[in-house]
Amino acid sequence: MPGQNKSLEDLFHEGLKDVYYAERKILTALPKMAKAVNSNDLRAAFEKHVKETEGQVQRLQKVFKMIGHQPKGKTCPAILGLVEEGEEVMEDFEDSPALDAGLLGGAQAVEHYEIARYGTLIAWAEQLEMPEAAQLLQQNLDEEKMTDKSLTKLAEAVINECGMRQAAE
Ligand code: FE
Ligand code: FE
Ligand code: FE
Repeated sequence: MPGQNKSLEDLFHEGLKDVYYAERKILTALPKMAKAVNSNDLRAAFEKHVKETEGQVQRLQKVFKMIGHQPKGKTCPAILGLVEEGEEVMEDFEDSPALDAGLLGGAQAVEHYEIARYGTLIAWAEQLEMPEAAQLLQQNLDEEKMTDKSLTKLAEAVINECGMRQAAE
């Protein structure tokens, strides 16, 4: 049967490759989103998270090392889809007052994907008795959660601004 020799270790390795691919995809997509938005606060939040993402990639490289594998990504269709949706918003809402709200929502979808993946990977690392790996992944998870929270805080201002711009048109 396919997969009968595969273990939780293999699943953990696969999950790591998935999120590694996703983080590096985000490193190319997020700066474009930062450039596109009108709100300086939102741009600053995106730029801050680009820096954090660079650190997250390095932590993942350490986790690969802990399990004796080269850091290597595996195509994550979920992140490709989310990035594609963001690109659609950038095209379709380019000159719209709603652009920022759309990109903020897209960014939060990405954070939620990451939060889901890291939560699972941490549980598996703990099960596999790899507390140091779990701790590194927890640091990434904490940053994703903080980012999600600060985006939620910004959302109200961004949506208000959108309403005001629309009223002024
Ligand atoms: Fe991340
Ligand atoms: Fe994925
Ligand atoms: Fe993130």
